[in-house]
Amino acid sequence: MSLDPVTMLTLSIALAAAASLYLAIEWGSVREPSLLFWSAGFATISIGTILALLRGSGLLVIGIWFANGLLVTAHGLFLLGVARFTEARLSRNWYLIIVVWVGMLWLPNDPSWSKIMLATNSLLVSVVTLRASFLLRPHGKSLSVGAVQLRYVLLVHGLFYFAKALSVVIPGTLIDLASLRGEIIQVSLVEGAMAIMLIALSMTGTERYRREKRIARLAARDPLTALYNRRALEVRAPRLLEGVSAARPGALLLIDIDHFKLVNDLFGHTAGDRLLVTLSEMIRSVLPEGSLAARLGGDEFVILLENTSLEQVVSLGDHLRAQFHQSASQTFATPAAVTLSIGASLFDQAPASLAALIELGDAALYESKRGGRDRIRVVQRASVQS
Ligand code: GH3
Ligand code: MG
Repeated sequence: MSLDPVTMLTLSIALAAAASLYLAIEWGSVREPSLLFWSAGFATISIGTILALLRGSGLLVIGIWFANGLLVTAHGLFLLGVARFTEARLSRNWYLIIVVWVGMLWLPNDPSWSKIMLATNSLLVSVVTLRASFLLRPHGKSLSVGAVQLRYVLLVHGLFYFAKALSVVIPGTLIDLASLRGEIIQVSLVEGAMAIMLIALSMTGTERYRREKRIARLAARDPLTALYNRRALEVRAPRLLEGVSAARPGALLLIDIDHFKLVNDLFGHTAGDRLLVTLSEMIRSVLPEGSLAARLGGDEFVILLENTSLEQVVSLGDHLRAQFHQSASQTFATPAAVTLSIGASLFDQAPASLAALIELGDAALYESKRGGRDRIRVVQRASVQS
Protein backbone atom coordinates (compact mmCIF):
# COMPACT_ATOMS: atom_id res chain seq x y z
CA MET A 1 0.00 0.00 0.00
CA SER A 2 1.34 3.38 -0.90
CA LEU A 3 -0.08 6.44 0.77
CA ASP A 4 0.10 9.83 -0.79
CA PRO A 5 2.18 11.83 1.75
CA VAL A 6 0.61 15.15 0.77
CA THR A 7 -2.90 13.80 1.52
CA MET A 8 -1.73 12.33 4.84
CA LEU A 9 -0.04 15.59 5.83
CA THR A 10 -3.13 17.61 4.90
CA LEU A 11 -5.26 15.26 7.01
CA SER A 12 -2.87 15.68 9.94
CA ILE A 13 -3.01 19.49 9.62
CA ALA A 14 -6.81 19.37 9.84
CA LEU A 15 -6.83 16.90 12.75
CA ALA A 16 -4.23 18.80 14.76
CA ALA A 17 -6.01 22.13 14.15
CA ALA A 18 -9.31 20.60 15.27
CA ALA A 19 -7.66 19.09 18.37
CA SER A 20 -6.08 22.45 19.21
CA LEU A 21 -9.40 24.25 18.88
CA TYR A 22 -11.24 21.60 20.89
CA LEU A 23 -8.75 21.76 23.75
CA ALA A 24 -8.80 25.58 23.68
CA ILE A 25 -12.60 25.55 24.00
CA GLU A 26 -12.31 23.03 26.84
CA TRP A 27 -9.80 25.36 28.51
CA GLY A 28 -12.30 28.21 28.07
CA SER A 29 -14.75 26.43 30.36
CA VAL A 30 -12.39 24.64 32.76
CA ARG A 31 -9.44 27.12 32.93
CA GLU A 32 -6.91 24.39 33.63
CA PRO A 33 -3.50 25.61 32.30
CA SER A 34 -2.52 22.10 31.15
CA LEU A 35 -5.28 22.26 28.51
CA LEU A 36 -3.77 25.46 27.13
CA PHE A 37 -0.32 23.86 26.84
CA TRP A 38 -1.83 20.88 25.04
CA SER A 39 -3.86 23.11 22.74
CA ALA A 40 -0.69 25.07 21.89
CA GLY A 41 1.07 21.74 21.24
CA PHE A 42 -1.51 20.75 18.62
CA ALA A 43 -1.44 24.22 17.05
CA THR A 44 2.34 23.82 16.75
CA ILE A 45 1.90 20.43 15.08
CA SER A 46 -0.56 21.99 12.65
CA ILE A 47 1.86 24.80 11.72
CA GLY A 48 4.83 22.40 11.54
CA THR A 49 2.91 20.11 9.20
CA ILE A 50 1.96 23.04 6.95
CA LEU A 51 5.66 23.87 6.75
CA ALA A 52 6.43 20.20 6.03
CA LEU A 53 4.40 20.50 2.83
CA LEU A 54 6.84 23.19 1.64
CA ARG A 55 9.66 20.68 1.28
CA GLY A 56 7.97 19.64 -1.95
CA SER A 57 8.86 23.11 -3.29
CA GLY A 58 12.52 22.63 -2.37
CA LEU A 59 12.42 24.70 0.86
CA LEU A 60 14.40 22.16 2.87
CA VAL A 61 15.44 24.25 5.87
CA ILE A 62 11.86 25.36 6.51
CA GLY A 63 10.20 22.18 5.25
CA ILE A 64 12.38 19.69 7.10
CA TRP A 65 14.61 21.30 9.73
CA PHE A 66 12.07 23.84 10.95
CA ALA A 67 9.04 21.56 10.57
CA ASN A 68 10.68 18.72 12.49
CA GLY A 69 11.84 21.19 15.13
CA LEU A 70 8.25 22.27 15.62
CA LEU A 71 7.25 18.61 16.08
CA VAL A 72 9.73 18.31 18.95
CA THR A 73 8.49 21.65 20.35
CA ALA A 74 4.89 20.39 20.23
CA HIS A 75 5.80 17.30 22.26
CA GLY A 76 7.66 19.61 24.65
CA LEU A 77 4.41 21.54 25.13
CA PHE A 78 2.60 18.24 25.80
CA LEU A 79 5.22 17.48 28.45
CA LEU A 80 4.78 20.93 30.02
CA GLY A 81 1.01 20.38 30.11
CA VAL A 82 1.44 17.00 31.80
CA ALA A 83 3.85 18.58 34.30
CA ARG A 84 1.19 21.19 35.13
CA PHE A 85 -1.46 18.47 35.37
CA THR A 86 0.61 16.34 37.75
CA GLU A 87 2.10 19.37 39.55
CA ALA A 88 5.59 18.06 38.80
CA ARG A 89 8.69 20.23 38.36
CA LEU A 90 10.76 19.74 35.23
CA SER A 91 14.54 20.08 35.14
CA ARG A 92 15.95 22.99 33.10
CA ASN A 93 18.13 20.45 31.27
CA TRP A 94 15.19 19.81 28.98
CA TYR A 95 15.98 23.13 27.27
CA LEU A 96 19.22 21.51 26.00
CA ILE A 97 16.99 19.95 23.35
CA ILE A 98 16.90 23.36 21.65
CA VAL A 99 20.72 23.40 21.53
CA VAL A 100 20.76 19.90 20.02
CA TRP A 101 18.20 21.02 17.49
CA VAL A 102 20.00 24.19 16.43
CA GLY A 103 23.19 22.10 16.05
CA MET A 104 21.39 20.05 13.39
CA LEU A 105 21.68 23.02 11.03
CA TRP A 106 25.34 22.15 10.62
CA LEU A 107 24.72 18.54 9.59
CA PRO A 108 26.86 17.52 6.60
CA ASN A 109 24.94 17.73 3.37
CA ASP A 110 25.54 14.12 2.24
CA PRO A 111 23.25 11.05 1.79
CA SER A 112 23.38 10.23 5.53
CA TRP A 113 21.69 13.58 6.27
CA SER A 114 18.10 12.28 6.13
CA LYS A 115 18.91 9.34 8.42
CA ILE A 116 20.70 11.40 11.09
CA MET A 117 17.92 13.99 10.98
CA LEU A 118 15.16 11.38 11.31
CA ALA A 119 16.95 9.45 14.06
CA THR A 120 17.70 12.57 16.14
CA ASN A 121 14.22 14.00 15.66
CA SER A 122 12.57 10.68 16.58
CA LEU A 123 14.79 10.19 19.60
CA LEU A 124 13.98 13.66 20.95
CA VAL A 125 10.23 13.20 20.42
CA SER A 126 10.47 9.78 22.04
CA VAL A 127 12.38 10.98 25.14
CA VAL A 128 10.03 13.94 25.70
CA THR A 129 6.90 11.79 25.23
CA LEU A 130 8.13 8.94 27.44
CA ARG A 131 8.98 11.48 30.15
CA ALA A 132 5.41 12.81 29.97
CA SER A 133 4.05 9.25 30.18
CA PHE A 134 6.34 8.56 33.16
CA LEU A 135 5.07 11.68 34.97
CA LEU A 136 1.57 10.22 34.73
CA ARG A 137 2.51 7.04 36.61
CA PRO A 138 0.44 6.58 39.77
CA HIS A 139 2.31 7.84 42.83
CA GLY A 140 0.46 8.27 46.09
CA LYS A 141 -2.90 9.46 44.83
CA SER A 142 -4.70 7.30 42.33
CA LEU A 143 -4.98 8.48 38.73
CA SER A 144 -8.28 9.18 37.05
CA VAL A 145 -9.37 6.95 34.17
CA GLY A 146 -8.55 9.73 31.70
CA ALA A 147 -5.02 10.16 33.03
CA VAL A 148 -4.36 6.43 32.78
CA GLN A 149 -5.51 6.50 29.13
CA LEU A 150 -3.22 9.44 28.35
CA ARG A 151 -0.33 7.69 30.09
CA TYR A 152 -0.63 4.61 27.88
CA VAL A 153 -1.29 6.55 24.66
CA LEU A 154 1.86 8.60 25.31
CA LEU A 155 3.80 5.45 26.20
CA VAL A 156 2.90 3.72 22.93
CA HIS A 157 3.55 6.93 20.94
CA GLY A 158 6.94 7.41 22.65
CA LEU A 159 7.93 3.78 22.03
CA PHE A 160 6.88 4.10 18.38
CA TYR A 161 9.23 7.07 17.96
CA PHE A 162 12.00 5.17 19.75
CA ALA A 163 11.57 2.27 17.33
CA LYS A 164 11.54 4.77 14.48
CA ALA A 165 14.89 6.17 15.64
CA LEU A 166 16.35 2.65 15.85
CA SER A 167 15.01 1.66 12.42
CA VAL A 168 17.61 3.95 10.84
CA VAL A 169 20.36 1.44 11.62
CA ILE A 170 18.60 -1.39 9.73
CA PRO A 171 20.74 -1.88 6.61
CA GLY A 172 19.04 -0.86 3.38
CA THR A 173 16.36 1.29 5.01
CA LEU A 174 15.26 3.94 2.59
CA ILE A 175 14.72 7.32 4.19
CA ASP A 176 14.37 10.37 2.00
CA LEU A 177 12.98 13.26 3.99
CA ALA A 178 13.06 15.66 1.06
CA SER A 179 10.61 13.62 -1.00
CA LEU A 180 8.92 11.84 1.94
CA ARG A 181 9.84 8.46 0.49
CA GLY A 182 10.48 5.28 2.48
CA GLU A 183 8.30 2.84 4.38
CA ILE A 184 9.16 4.29 7.77
CA ILE A 185 7.98 7.72 6.73
CA GLN A 186 4.77 6.22 5.32
CA VAL A 187 4.01 4.31 8.52
CA SER A 188 4.88 7.36 10.54
CA LEU A 189 2.38 9.50 8.67
CA VAL A 190 -0.43 7.06 9.52
CA GLU A 191 0.70 6.78 13.14
CA GLY A 192 0.82 10.59 13.33
CA ALA A 193 -2.83 11.00 12.36
CA MET A 194 -3.89 8.27 14.81
CA ALA A 195 -1.77 9.69 17.62
CA ILE A 196 -3.27 13.17 17.19
CA MET A 197 -6.76 11.76 17.69
CA LEU A 198 -5.93 9.47 20.61
CA ILE A 199 -3.76 11.96 22.48
CA ALA A 200 -6.31 14.78 22.08
CA LEU A 201 -9.18 12.53 23.21
CA SER A 202 -7.37 11.35 26.32
CA MET A 203 -6.21 14.89 27.12
CA THR A 204 -9.78 16.19 27.29
CA GLY A 205 -10.65 13.10 29.37
CA THR A 206 -7.96 13.72 31.99
CA GLU A 207 -9.33 17.06 33.13
CA ARG A 208 -12.95 16.00 32.85
CA TYR A 209 -12.55 12.89 34.98
CA ARG A 210 -10.56 14.84 37.53
CA ARG A 211 -13.22 17.54 37.67
CA GLU A 212 -15.98 14.98 38.11
CA LYS A 213 -14.05 13.33 40.93
CA ARG A 214 -13.49 16.70 42.60
CA ILE A 215 -17.17 17.62 42.30
CA ALA A 216 -18.27 14.24 43.69
CA ARG A 217 -15.85 14.65 46.60
CA LEU A 218 -17.08 18.17 47.33
CA ALA A 219 -20.71 17.09 47.13
CA ALA A 220 -20.16 14.28 49.65
CA ARG A 221 -18.29 16.28 52.28
CA ASP A 222 -19.24 18.83 54.89
CA PRO A 223 -17.08 21.83 53.93
CA LEU A 224 -16.09 22.75 57.50
CA THR A 225 -15.06 19.38 58.93
CA ALA A 226 -14.55 17.35 55.72
CA LEU A 227 -16.62 14.55 57.28
CA TYR A 228 -19.39 13.04 55.15
CA ASN A 229 -22.58 15.08 55.00
CA ARG A 230 -26.07 13.64 55.52
CA ARG A 231 -26.55 12.86 51.82
CA ALA A 232 -23.25 10.98 51.58
CA LEU A 233 -24.16 9.03 54.73
CA GLU A 234 -27.52 8.08 53.22
CA VAL A 235 -25.73 6.74 50.14
CA ARG A 236 -23.14 4.75 52.10
CA ALA A 237 -25.20 3.54 55.10
CA PRO A 238 -27.29 0.81 53.35
CA ARG A 239 -24.20 -1.30 52.59
CA LEU A 240 -23.15 -1.21 56.23
CA LEU A 241 -26.68 -1.84 57.52
CA GLU A 242 -27.20 -4.85 55.21
CA GLY A 243 -24.36 -6.69 56.96
CA VAL A 244 -25.99 -6.40 60.38
CA SER A 245 -27.08 -9.64 62.11
CA ALA A 246 -27.38 -11.05 65.63
CA ALA A 247 -23.75 -12.16 65.33
CA ARG A 248 -22.63 -8.77 63.98
CA PRO A 249 -24.73 -6.05 65.65
CA GLY A 250 -24.62 -2.48 64.41
CA ALA A 251 -24.88 0.79 66.31
CA LEU A 252 -25.61 4.43 65.62
CA LEU A 253 -24.30 7.18 67.88
CA LEU A 254 -25.89 10.62 67.64
CA ILE A 255 -23.60 13.23 69.16
CA ASP A 256 -24.58 16.80 70.07
CA ILE A 257 -22.44 19.43 71.77
CA ASP A 258 -23.88 20.76 75.03
CA HIS A 259 -24.19 24.55 75.32
CA PHE A 260 -22.42 25.06 72.03
CA LYS A 261 -24.21 28.36 71.57
CA LEU A 262 -22.22 29.73 74.53
CA VAL A 263 -18.98 29.25 72.59
CA ASN A 264 -20.42 31.13 69.63
CA ASP A 265 -21.85 33.88 71.79
CA LEU A 266 -18.84 34.40 74.07
CA PHE A 267 -15.91 33.62 71.76
CA GLY A 268 -17.31 34.18 68.30
CA HIS A 269 -18.46 32.03 65.43
CA THR A 270 -14.89 31.27 64.30
CA ALA A 271 -14.08 29.80 67.72
CA GLY A 272 -17.27 27.74 67.41
CA ASP A 273 -16.14 26.52 64.00
CA ARG A 274 -12.77 25.53 65.43
CA LEU A 275 -14.47 23.49 68.14
CA LEU A 276 -16.56 21.69 65.52
CA VAL A 277 -13.37 20.84 63.62
CA THR A 278 -11.71 19.64 66.85
CA LEU A 279 -14.65 17.33 67.52
CA SER A 280 -14.58 16.01 63.96
CA GLU A 281 -10.88 15.19 64.33
CA MET A 282 -11.57 13.36 67.60
CA ILE A 283 -14.34 11.37 65.91
CA ARG A 284 -12.01 10.49 63.02
CA SER A 285 -9.31 9.32 65.41
CA VAL A 286 -11.59 6.87 67.26
CA LEU A 287 -13.44 5.59 64.21
CA PRO A 288 -13.03 1.80 63.82
CA GLU A 289 -12.33 0.47 60.32
CA GLY A 290 -15.47 -0.09 58.28
CA SER A 291 -17.55 2.44 60.22
CA LEU A 292 -18.95 5.74 58.96
CA ALA A 293 -19.01 9.24 60.45
CA ALA A 294 -20.88 12.30 59.27
CA ARG A 295 -21.87 15.79 60.35
CA LEU A 296 -25.63 15.98 60.11
CA GLY A 297 -25.65 19.75 60.53
CA GLY A 298 -25.04 22.38 63.25
CA ASP A 299 -23.35 20.73 66.23
CA GLU A 300 -24.81 17.30 65.50
CA PHE A 301 -22.63 14.38 64.38
CA VAL A 302 -23.31 10.72 63.76
CA ILE A 303 -21.21 7.56 63.90
CA LEU A 304 -22.40 4.30 62.37
CA LEU A 305 -20.65 1.17 63.62
CA GLU A 306 -20.68 -2.40 62.34
CA ASN A 307 -19.88 -5.61 64.20
CA THR A 308 -19.94 -3.90 67.58
CA SER A 309 -21.30 -4.46 71.11
CA LEU A 310 -22.87 -2.48 73.94
CA GLU A 311 -19.49 -2.34 75.73
CA GLN A 312 -17.73 -0.99 72.66
CA VAL A 313 -20.42 1.64 72.05
CA VAL A 314 -20.30 2.85 75.65
CA SER A 315 -16.52 2.80 75.74
CA LEU A 316 -16.21 4.74 72.47
CA GLY A 317 -18.81 7.29 73.62
CA ASP A 318 -17.19 7.74 77.03
CA HIS A 319 -13.76 8.12 75.47
CA LEU A 320 -15.05 10.84 73.12
CA ARG A 321 -16.86 12.62 75.94
CA ALA A 322 -13.80 12.66 78.19
CA GLN A 323 -11.48 13.81 75.42
CA PHE A 324 -13.86 16.54 74.28
CA HIS A 325 -14.60 17.77 77.80
CA GLN A 326 -10.90 18.10 78.54
CA SER A 327 -10.17 19.99 75.33
CA ALA A 328 -13.21 22.31 75.53
CA SER A 329 -12.76 23.18 79.22
CA GLN A 330 -9.10 24.07 78.60
CA THR A 331 -9.94 26.31 75.66
CA PHE A 332 -13.22 27.95 76.67
CA ALA A 333 -14.25 29.20 80.11
CA THR A 334 -18.05 29.13 79.95
CA PRO A 335 -20.75 29.51 82.65
CA ALA A 336 -22.05 26.02 81.76
CA ALA A 337 -19.71 23.19 80.72
CA VAL A 338 -19.34 22.58 77.00
CA THR A 339 -19.58 18.81 76.81
CA LEU A 340 -21.03 16.03 74.65
CA SER A 341 -24.40 14.33 74.91
CA ILE A 342 -24.73 11.08 73.03
CA GLY A 343 -27.77 9.04 72.10
CA ALA A 344 -27.00 5.60 70.72
CA SER A 345 -29.04 2.76 69.33
CA LEU A 346 -27.80 -0.79 69.11
CA PHE A 347 -29.50 -3.18 66.70
CA ASP A 348 -29.04 -6.79 65.63
CA GLN A 349 -31.04 -6.72 62.43
CA ALA A 350 -31.05 -4.29 59.51
CA PRO A 351 -33.34 -1.37 60.41
CA ALA A 352 -36.12 -0.19 58.11
CA SER A 353 -34.11 2.86 57.14
CA LEU A 354 -31.33 5.15 58.22
CA ALA A 355 -33.95 7.79 59.05
CA ALA A 356 -35.71 5.36 61.44
CA LEU A 357 -32.37 4.67 63.08
CA ILE A 358 -31.58 8.36 63.47
CA GLU A 359 -35.00 8.85 65.04
CA LEU A 360 -34.16 6.20 67.65
CA GLY A 361 -30.82 7.86 68.30
CA ASP A 362 -32.58 11.20 68.60
CA ALA A 363 -34.88 9.84 71.30
CA ALA A 364 -31.86 8.52 73.23
CA LEU A 365 -30.06 11.85 72.75
CA TYR A 366 -33.08 13.67 74.14
CA GLU A 367 -32.89 11.37 77.19
CA SER A 368 -29.23 12.27 77.62
CA LYS A 369 -29.96 15.97 77.47
CA ARG A 370 -32.88 15.63 79.86
CA GLY A 371 -30.81 13.54 82.23
CA GLY A 372 -28.36 16.42 82.72
CA ARG A 373 -26.15 16.35 79.59
CA ASP A 374 -22.52 15.08 79.34
CA ARG A 375 -23.66 11.46 79.17
CA ILE A 376 -24.48 8.61 76.82
CA ARG A 377 -27.80 6.78 76.55
CA VAL A 378 -28.08 3.57 74.59
CA VAL A 379 -31.35 2.14 73.36
CA GLN A 380 -31.34 -1.51 72.46
CA ARG A 381 -34.39 -2.21 70.34
CA ALA A 382 -37.07 -0.35 72.39
CA SER A 383 -35.63 -0.46 75.90
CA VAL A 384 -33.12 1.95 77.40
CA GLN A 385 -30.12 -0.03 78.64
CA SER A 386 -27.71 2.43 80.20
P1 GH3 B 1 -27.83 22.17 73.65
O1 GH3 B 1 -26.94 22.11 74.84
O2 GH3 B 1 -29.27 21.98 74.02
O3 GH3 B 1 -27.41 21.24 72.58
O4 GH3 B 1 -27.75 23.65 73.07
P2 GH3 B 1 -26.62 24.29 72.17
O5 GH3 B 1 -26.19 25.57 72.79
O6 GH3 B 1 -25.56 23.30 71.85
O7 GH3 B 1 -27.40 24.68 70.86
P3 GH3 B 1 -28.13 23.71 69.83
O8 GH3 B 1 -27.51 22.39 69.81
O9 GH3 B 1 -29.60 23.78 70.08
O10 GH3 B 1 -27.86 24.48 68.46
C1 GH3 B 1 -26.65 24.41 67.79
C2 GH3 B 1 -26.10 25.80 67.53
O11 GH3 B 1 -24.97 25.68 66.72
C3 GH3 B 1 -27.05 26.71 66.77
C4 GH3 B 1 -26.19 27.47 65.80
O12 GH3 B 1 -26.08 28.82 66.17
C5 GH3 B 1 -24.83 26.87 65.93
N1 GH3 B 1 -24.26 26.47 64.67
C6 GH3 B 1 -24.85 25.72 63.70
N2 GH3 B 1 -23.99 25.52 62.67
C7 GH3 B 1 -22.83 26.15 63.01
C8 GH3 B 1 -21.56 26.29 62.36
O13 GH3 B 1 -21.31 25.80 61.27
N3 GH3 B 1 -20.61 27.00 63.01
C9 GH3 B 1 -20.83 27.57 64.24
N4 GH3 B 1 -19.84 28.23 64.82
N5 GH3 B 1 -22.03 27.45 64.86
C10 GH3 B 1 -23.00 26.76 64.27
MG1 MG C 1 -26.00 21.41 71.00
